[in-house]
Amino acid sequence: MADQRKEIHMPEIEADASLYLTALQEGWLQVKVPVPFSLKWVNSYLIPEVEGYTLVDPGLRTDNAIKVWDAVMKRQGLQWSNIRRIVLTHQHPDHYGLAGYAQEKSGAEVYMTRKAHAYAVRLWGDGSDFSWQLQALYEKHGMPIEEREAIAENLETFVDMVSPQPAVTYFEAGEPFRMGGLSWLLIDAPGHATGQLCFYQRERKWMLCGDQVLPHITPNVSIVPGEDGDPLEQFLHSLDALNKFEVTLAFPGHRDPFAGFNERITELQQHHARRLDKMAAMLAEEPRTAYGMCEALFGSRLNGNAHQLRFAMSETLAHLVYLERKARIASSDHAGICYFSAVKG
Ligand SMILES: [Zn+2]
Ligand SMILES: [Zn+2]
Repeated sequence: MADQRKEIHMPEIEADASLYLTALQEGWLQVKVPVPFSLKWVNSYLIPEVEGYTLVDPGLRTDNAIKVWDAVMKRQGLQWSNIRRIVLTHQHPDHYGLAGYAQEKSGAEVYMTRKAHAYAVRLWGDGSDFSWQLQALYEKHGMPIEEREAIAENLETFVDMVSPQPAVTYFEAGEPFRMGGLSWLLIDAPGHATGQLCFYQRERKWMLCGDQVLPHITPNVSIVPGEDGDPLEQFLHSLDALNKFEVTLAFPGHRDPFAGFNERITELQQHHARRLDKMAAMLAEEPRTAYGMCEALFGSRLNGNAHQLRFAMSETLAHLVYLERKARIASSDHAGICYFSAVKG
């Protein structure tokens, strides 16, 4: 469960920091910062500068994440004051959550895009009604009250894991950006997270890709209350755009740096095409709510896990919105609940 109070004690952190640390090219360090979800860890990258380091995506604020950072810093002979700049690929809590803590410790500026920051404020700012909006959305799409309450409770646990929140410096796609002595192209990469950036280094053919393209994991694409549009369309469009870059090595937000970036994009595109076909076929058999579809697709894998259920439900909705916009399915209202059915064509 994604609950900090149930975080497992990890004695090996103090014993052997090298378990969480991989030396990469040109003095880069990959730090595997633990997260209490099935993702296991988020990648932070320490990139050497003329003085100190740029830190990309510090992780989620949990006791274990802080222990890993303390152990890694000690092993490398570093202090927080060696962190000169914090860069966020996107605003999801597993990447953003520790940014305020790292800023307090280091005094470094935290860079993120304006759109990404707006999302963070909307979710975790004072007077946020995001959880209520999500409840309303899920109710309309057939989710029972017990599940909605479990999700609201789970969302609550994230507030501590993103606190304190950082003061932010904005940077945007298309702006010039230097990191590790190299110039990087900042690429708008929406779909997984509005305002996410990918970073491309032309001479090295490196892509720092946040969660947009991950090895072994299908990046989550979700309907987010308060954001209009079609996130799956945006995601697929972004994959097309990223596929035009020649990439020899990709640095993802989860798992390990990998070659075969373009092949991985093709696999992700095929995954979504298959999923869309399967869902359209299921709706040709009988109309279903988004919740009914989510259960049919993910059922046993959810196992009462509110965190997983939220991802699965919002991902199911993203596919349904995409199919409806392409006029492959249609929705209708029955007593306040939305049902989807296939369009015969
Ligand atoms: Zn993410
Ligand atoms: Zn992530």
